[in-house]
Amino acid sequence: MKLFDTMSRTVRDLAPRDGATYRFYCCGPTVYGPAHIGNFRTFTLQDVFRRTLELSGLATFHVRNLTDVDDKTIRDSRAAGSTLGDFTDHWRDRFHADCDKLNLLRPHLEPSAVAHIPHQIAMIGELMEKGHAYASPDGSVYYRVSSFRDYGRLSRLDQRELREGASGAVADDEYDKDSVSDFALWKARREEDGDNFWDSPWGLGRPGWHLECSAMCREYLGESFDLHSGGVDLVFPHHENEIAQSEACTGHRMADHWFHLTHLLVDGGKMSKSAGNFYTLEQLEKAGFSAAELRHVLVSAHYRQPLNFVAKDAEGKETFPALLGARQALQRLAKFDVALAARTGEPETPGYATLLAGKDGASFAGAFEALENDLNTPDALGRIFTAIKALDVASLSSEEARRERLGFHRVLAALGFALPSVAGEGGREAEAPADIARLAEERRAAKLAKDWPEADRLRNEIAALGWEVKDTKEGYELCPKN
Ligand code: AMP
Ligand code: ZN
Repeated sequence: MKLFDTMSRTVRDLAPRDGATYRFYCCGPTVYGPAHIGNFRTFTLQDVFRRTLELSGLATFHVRNLTDVDDKTIRDSRAAGSTLGDFTDHWRDRFHADCDKLNLLRPHLEPSAVAHIPHQIAMIGELMEKGHAYASPDGSVYYRVSSFRDYGRLSRLDQRELREGASGAVADDEYDKDSVSDFALWKARREEDGDNFWDSPWGLGRPGWHLECSAMCREYLGESFDLHSGGVDLVFPHHENEIAQSEACTGHRMADHWFHLTHLLVDGGKMSKSAGNFYTLEQLEKAGFSAAELRHVLVSAHYRQPLNFVAKDAEGKETFPALLGARQALQRLAKFDVALAARTGEPETPGYATLLAGKDGASFAGAFEALENDLNTPDALGRIFTAIKALDVASLSSEEARRERLGFHRVLAALGFALPSVAGEGGREAEAPADIARLAEERRAAKLAKDWPEADRLRNEIAALGWEVKDTKEGYELCPKN
């Protein structure tokens, strides 16, 4: 597989350092509120990246942290009158629920900043010993940016300006390139931190945000590992600072490859609460869309291009044209799958393990190759639809259909698509929205399990949404209620 590397500004081949397992780290969510669909663009593309590696035959080791102590988590937990732990546990659980709905593979490890305070304190001690950090009179500790020769390499800061301009120290976790400064490794306890402080050789306080990733990468991935990833906003200062901390400590290159994802925009603009265009999965579900439909939208653009999520139609109404398009696309994929499955005589959908084992691409090999070529998801989608159009399913032998279906499901699995159900011959069900189809599937499962109250409850839920489920010899049909 090939992928663009921010450090070298080139597309480079990926190969695991140890020759066996690709080991990578993704900066995870700050758990102080629901993740928005921009965050999920990043996490979803990282998931497609991992799935593509795995389906092309490589084992992976995926670490993604939880930021559960920083300026924002402390501020908002106090405003909510909760302990920091209760507050961040709540948002972590919500994040997991959203990830599951979006079909994101769980990382192999999900370490949290609060659980690694001693590791962070130890790292500060090393940096001080090596002359890269200094304590200030108030008990904070700062990283001395001028002590690290390579500072600014990832974000291409002008080295000359840096030497002349890098003076002073910044206590905030987030700042822009114009204010390159020594940054906080340890923040002395302040009034507004409430009960959220720890003891250290420099007094009471808490770690700066950038340090947690350096400490956890080293703990779980070692001094050098294969790839590090995050949204493009993390290139500076977060990843620049991580490199400075880690490499000054260990003397080794932190990561071989840097994978950054361009931001999602909403109706052409930056997402923000004040602009009223800050969408969460929950909001989109309330508007009648499914996580699978959102996932389709999120992978529809290349990760190095901005993705503009169109929420409003030409009249300014919030009709979510992008999601309606995704719904149609998924229905086409689902209908094709039903036809292909019928041809194979094997209705079972091939599972992830079967797909990992197979290499048989047939008509869909090109779509999978598009993913291996700098994770080109729009190209992969285009090739899937071209292949579907070109394939004359009725002319395939059952063996050919089986091979095509494996290839089809292999690329669907890489994209992480769960197809909505399409039942019956007439295709009338195909017109039911994905969430209705899902409820009908759940009802079928309840009936199979002879859970009649649950089946009745689901029938009523479907009816309340304007659809009728009719039992037939083959299964059921979904019809809009008059
Ligand atoms: P946070 O929870 O703010 O630490 O962000 C989690 C991840 O989402 C990071 O990798 C961010 O870079 C990324 N991110 C933040 N905003 C956006 C956006 N609008 N589009 C894509 N990724 C984003
Ligand atoms: Zn990080």
